[in-house]
Amino acid sequence: MSVPETLRFSELALSAPVLKAIEKVGYEQPSPIQAASIPHLLNGKDLLGVAQTGTGKTAAFALPLLSNIVIEQKSPQILVLTPTRELAIQVAEAFKTYASQLKGFHVLPIYGGQDMGSQLRQLKRGAQVIVGTPGRIMDHLRRKSLNLNELNSIVLDEADEMLRMGFIDDVEWILEHTPEQRQVALFSATMPKPIKKVADNYLKNPQEVRITRESSTGSNIEQCYLTVNGFERKLEAITRILEGEGFDAMIIFVRTKTSTVELAEKLEARGYAAAPLNGDMNQQLRERTISRLKKKQLDIIVATDVAARGIDVERVSHVLNFDIPYDSEAYVHRIGRTGRAGRSGKAILFVAPREKRLLHSIERATGKKIVHMDLPSGKEVSNKRIERFLQQLDDTLNTQKLDFFYDLLAEYSNDCNRSAEEIACALAYLLQKDRPLEVEDAGQSKVSKNKKAKDKKDKPDRTPKDTDGKDIALDNYRIEIGREHQVKPGDIVKAISQEAGLERQYIGHIKLHDNYSIVELPTGMPREILQHLKQIQISDQALNISRLSKKAPAGNKGDKRRKPATKAAKKTSKPRKRKANKS
Ligand code: AMP
Repeated sequence: MSVPETLRFSELALSAPVLKAIEKVGYEQPSPIQAASIPHLLNGKDLLGVAQTGTGKTAAFALPLLSNIVIEQKSPQILVLTPTRELAIQVAEAFKTYASQLKGFHVLPIYGGQDMGSQLRQLKRGAQVIVGTPGRIMDHLRRKSLNLNELNSIVLDEADEMLRMGFIDDVEWILEHTPEQRQVALFSATMPKPIKKVADNYLKNPQEVRITRESSTGSNIEQCYLTVNGFERKLEAITRILEGEGFDAMIIFVRTKTSTVELAEKLEARGYAAAPLNGDMNQQLRERTISRLKKKQLDIIVATDVAARGIDVERVSHVLNFDIPYDSEAYVHRIGRTGRAGRSGKAILFVAPREKRLLHSIERATGKKIVHMDLPSGKEVSNKRIERFLQQLDDTLNTQKLDFFYDLLAEYSNDCNRSAEEIACALAYLLQKDRPLEVEDAGQSKVSKNKKAKDKKDKPDRTPKDTDGKDIALDNYRIEIGREHQVKPGDIVKAISQEAGLERQYIGHIKLHDNYSIVELPTGMPREILQHLKQIQISDQALNISRLSKKAPAGNKGDKRRKPATKAAKKTSKPRKRKANKS
């Protein structure tokens, strides 16, 4: 099932507030299940949808049903039954998003394990949409705390899961207790016999919508997947892949227009030549973006399915599915952007744990196994960075005129009695301090070790710890910059960590006053570093740092002083006056 390239939500007769909400979330085009289901559900028809999570099935029923609700009426008009509380919460959240422009809208998730009293109060207050697990909904129907007399539509979401979990009798019971004239939509990833029976018994002339279809992929494309969930984690994963994989050009697929821009910006900030490509851009701008990819002015395009249709750029070595496509056809189309002109290509798919079923259905439809991949390890990424770093040195030594620096550093070496290696190390450190060559694997870094220890406690504890998890002895320092200078604690942390080479977690509390601030820093900061910090500026204001009193480690009084974890503490060349960037 494919969606015509030109089909837009605006052509689907959805209500104006719902259309506005979709525009706000940034959906560009209806997914196949949406294009097929929305018109039927809008017309009040019953529907049998064969589709799994990840296909956009929630919006496929939520958008049309929301378009038909009477907002002034506070009694339940839509009931969605889900197998789990997680899904109930998720579906309720989706309803909230799609109803963001409907004033007076209420959706209520109802599931077992939740406090009954608060559920009863909320039910009394009224909600147009109820999303719940069958057991708890039955409870409320029996107690008469839930009244479904005004119900217009009922949705059975993930019906096969409800069957698997033994809820199907409850579902039938609930169906029996809803008004005769209600509309029923049944969504299921598979259609086992008992589900078919429910459909036969309770759906009237249902429209059937399926989204699975045979599709084929080229054999010159290596296909793999990675289990990863959430924007931030995916971003971390992508950064590793970009560094560890070695690619020529890449197309990254996301679901929304807003994500194309957001992700392209994040990648640009990490130094990649990346640009978005989406349906909001006019044809000319889209063509210009693709032509920049061809001319190597860009290496990464972050695109939606609509915008990337038909891109034919030979140098695209990788396709990365940041968001899983809705179905196998979209998948085949996406990965076909690589492996052009007989070249080989690689397609990587990010799959959230709850999207595994969609992954398997893509595999079934394409008849190809998508193999599991591991993220490049910290060691692999380190090796690549070191390789690039040495290559840069080589290139510079081979191509640049370095006489000025040669004289300057020879003189410095002589004056300060420093060897060439020592000076080279300091320079290398300065060059790479914001981008260390050594990359640790997740869970091994000092930061994550400390974070784990921190997470264990209920109360957040901002006391810096050393690598053994022990509190670090701290001193109070005064800096001559405060609220008046429009700084935030983050600016101070950034400046100090960059200039003193002090890892952020070793910086303690910061208290802003009007024209000065107090910062906690590890005891025993070398004098050179303090000297250096005195001179740095934030917002054109010198820090002029000075030590106040000694602060004993929390709960660790009398403990031996611990060395601060300064990377630059060992040897520091004479500091020059420098401005720190304010973020
Ligand atoms: P679902 O299959 O309902 O769990 O939806 C999977 C994901 O697709 C959710 O994160 C939705 O926000 C997203 N989504 C649904 N419809 C669209 C659309 N038309 N365009 C972009 N993203 C969508």
